[in-house]
Amino acid sequence: MNDVIIIGGGPAGVAAGVYAARKQMKTVFIADQIGGQSVVSDGIANWIGDQLLSGVELAKKLEEHLKSYADDLEIVVPGHCEAVTQNADGSFHIITNKGAFDAKTVIATTGGRHRTLNVPGEEQLNGKGVAYCATCDAPFFKGKDVAVVGGGNSGLESVEDLLPYANKIYLLARRDELRGDPITQKKVLDSDQVEVLYKTNTLEIAGEAMVTGLRYEDLASGEHKNLSVQGVFVEIGSVPNSEFLSDLVVLNDRREVVVDHRTFATSVPGVFAAGDVTDELYKQNNIAVGDAIKATLSAYEYVKKMV
Ligand SMILES: Cc1cc2nc3c(=O)[nH]c(=O)nc-3n(C[C@H](O)[C@H](O)[C@H](O)COP(=O)(O)OP(=O)(O)OC[C@H]3O[C@@H](n4cnc5c(N)ncnc54)[C@H](O)[C@@H]3O)c2cc1C
Repeated sequence: MNDVIIIGGGPAGVAAGVYAARKQMKTVFIADQIGGQSVVSDGIANWIGDQLLSGVELAKKLEEHLKSYADDLEIVVPGHCEAVTQNADGSFHIITNKGAFDAKTVIATTGGRHRTLNVPGEEQLNGKGVAYCATCDAPFFKGKDVAVVGGGNSGLESVEDLLPYANKIYLLARRDELRGDPITQKKVLDSDQVEVLYKTNTLEIAGEAMVTGLRYEDLASGEHKNLSVQGVFVEIGSVPNSEFLSDLVVLNDRREVVVDHRTFATSVPGVFAAGDVTDELYKQNNIAVGDAIKATLSAYEYVKKMV
């Protein structure tokens, strides 16, 4: 019987792994990869202790730190958790693609993934002009006309990433205003390359082999309109990777795991969660780390009381 299983290899999961090892808990660490979502980022300027580093550099640091405890942890990477159920004795049974594990406690740090538009054409043209990461894919759109869907920070940052490459950039916002930080808004709005289309709803992404256009509804007039573009960047937020827990713990209406923000306990005693998979308001690397440390210390106290 393990003391704890940590599921997820982003900043939260790695922080939990380091703290669990230092508490000498018998630990299984399972994750698809180590590094988490911001691995695709060109520049992270708010990781405390580093003025600027890339997502790949951050992932490398996290991996090195975790693996320095390789003697104290059972690290299963890559490995994917499919379900967690509770045993009759109150411990947990974790089903993964690398076999099943039992543990007294679970710490879920599975983060989030990009939200999709769910419109015709999106899935078929994914990777053929439909993209979800401008930092990664902007250079492929040199000289092309593109649409960015999403008027929040990620949409604005995608436009910023595309400015050196794309010819014309349409930014489609659902509201009649942009959200996101004022400095990026100004940069985007001041550019001749950018045209912001407010109050829009994307209906379809067109194209056979590659993206050729985007059809949207002008919510002010109700008219359906077409844009001729060769690329569509979808930047409408993220969804939590909480499916494997949905039959066990309480999720909110956004499918985030509801936690007590003092202990990071979920609705089921013994199951803890931290980082972007939870109802934490601020989805940030440093915050995910702090939350995960609290979750791990709580799991440690929980195990101690069981003995
Ligand atoms: C492009 C981009 C840039 C960003 N830039 C910044 C920034 O500059 N500064 C900042 O503070 N934040 C930034 N963020 C936000 C930051 O990345 C997140 O807040 C942070 O990664 C959350 O960490 P986490 O550990 O909770 O989850 P994640 O980083 O999402 O990690 C989740 C981990 O769980 C794994 N996983 C998921 N499901 C399963 C499963 N069923 N079984 C096994 N493993 C699973 C994943 O593979 C991954 O390893 C950025 C995000 C993106 C997308």
